[in-house]
Amino acid sequence: MQKRKHCKNPSIKAVAEKGHKDYVYVKLSVWNEMIRHCKNELPYEACGLLSGRKRKLETIWKMDNIEKSAYSFAMDLDQITNTIQLMEKRKESLTGIYHSHPTGLPYPSKEDILNAHYPKAAYFIVSLANQKPIVRCFRIQDKSVYPLLIKVINE
Ligand SMILES: [Zn+2]
Repeated sequence: MQKRKHCKNPSIKAVAEKGHKDYVYVKLSVWNEMIRHCKNELPYEACGLLSGRKRKLETIWKMDNIEKSAYSFAMDLDQITNTIQLMEKRKESLTGIYHSHPTGLPYPSKEDILNAHYPKAAYFIVSLANQKPIVRCFRIQDKSVYPLLIKVINE
């Protein structure tokens, strides 16, 4: 997970449609907290990690955007390492990564795709370009982007 830049240029063309779509399951409390975090960090991009078991996202880990930028984000490697250790203590693993696009569409930018190093993770992008936040989720594998369907579960 390194630097991601120029998130304001979404490369929608890179979004490959697949015949079938996979679901990711997000706990409602995690969902709400993710959106709240993204709003609180405005005008900067917010970023964070999500953990759980299999496709279920059960825990949110807010991370610092060390770039403090409205158009890019980067996480501190030590903070990532520490957070992953805490996930393991909970018997969870890294299953999702989120960041916001304060003024952009909820699609991965070219840089988001280039810097996506977790092929199994669900990449969430929270767009705050409109009054109502829009969240989309993708899997990014071998520089290709596959949309995932999101199911928010209330439990
Ligand atoms: Zn981005």
